[in-house]
Amino acid sequence: MATSTPGRTAPARRTPTLAIDIGGTKIAVGLVDDDGALVHQAKLPTPDGDAEAIWAVIESLVIEALSTAGGAVRGVGVASAGPIDLQTGTVSPINITEWQRFPIVDRLSAIVDAPVRLGGDGLCMAMGERWRGAGRGAEFLLGMVVSTGVGGGLVLDGAPYDGRTGNAGHVGHVVVDPDGRPCTCGGRGCVETIAAGPRMAQWAREQGWDAPAGADAKELADAAAAGNAIALRTFARGATAVAAMIASVGAVCDLDLVVVGGGVAKAGPLLFDPLREALHTYAGLDFIRDLRVVPAELGGDAGLVGAAALVISVR
Ligand code: ADP
Ligand code: ZN
Repeated sequence: MATSTPGRTAPARRTPTLAIDIGGTKIAVGLVDDDGALVHQAKLPTPDGDAEAIWAVIESLVIEALSTAGGAVRGVGVASAGPIDLQTGTVSPINITEWQRFPIVDRLSAIVDAPVRLGGDGLCMAMGERWRGAGRGAEFLLGMVVSTGVGGGLVLDGAPYDGRTGNAGHVGHVVVDPDGRPCTCGGRGCVETIAAGPRMAQWAREQGWDAPAGADAKELADAAAAGNAIALRTFARGATAVAAMIASVGAVCDLDLVVVGGGVAKAGPLLFDPLREALHTYAGLDFIRDLRVVPAELGGDAGLVGAAALVISVR
């Protein structure tokens, strides 16, 4: 019969943390152990229904995970698409229009007997990569994604940086072209208007790219890999915009590492080579001259792992 050694296998250490990742296309719920391993995970598409239909999906996944955990969890970490509001525990994701100030923290507190900690999805990605991925050891980290949009989160002095309302780290809306195109945020010239996958595909078409029907950044990457000059130019342009943003945020926050994930980062050197080259041009100050930019390692799991990291103090 197994015996427990006091101090080594205290029951509390085995109690997992419940992690929830809420996005416009899917909702994922998982259990994360104290070493950051995802020990259970289930996902469902974000439904096209009203606010309560979306909540019902989360509730069902949470109940399933709680039963897998044997009823007890250490806490609940929630990664949500933004904007969020930490003061009221509400979320109003731009790509879940049915949710306007949805009281996610109160709803979860009503069904789970454990503290609930909300964070932006970008912040959770950064925390996840720092705990278990490409950001290990970094004390001043920007974790970011280049995908349908551009997003991110900051870990400063080893701790998640929420900002006043929970929305710090929205690096997709760093302006890199003051005369640039309108952005979904209401501003213009944001890095997202140049480097987000669909925006790159659109720009390439405008330059004369003979795109296959329905082509997005993935097909643009295939074209670039085959040597298509317009596609290569588009990736260089997107990467340069991202580099300008990184140099700016790097200087403001005195960063030591940037981890880049998201679908467009799967293009690998097509994005990272011109990005690093442009960063040399823009990162002039001594303290950011050696700022490293590396690919993310955790893929889609980073949000769940990072949401749990918000609950478990990870330093
Ligand atoms: P989401 O924005 O929903 O989180 P993703 O992170 O997968 O989704 O990002 C989607 C974007 O990534 C699309 O513009 C898609 O074309 C692009 N993408 C996916 N795979 C690749 C790839 N291998 N190379 C370049 N772009 C890619
Ligand atoms: Zn914007």
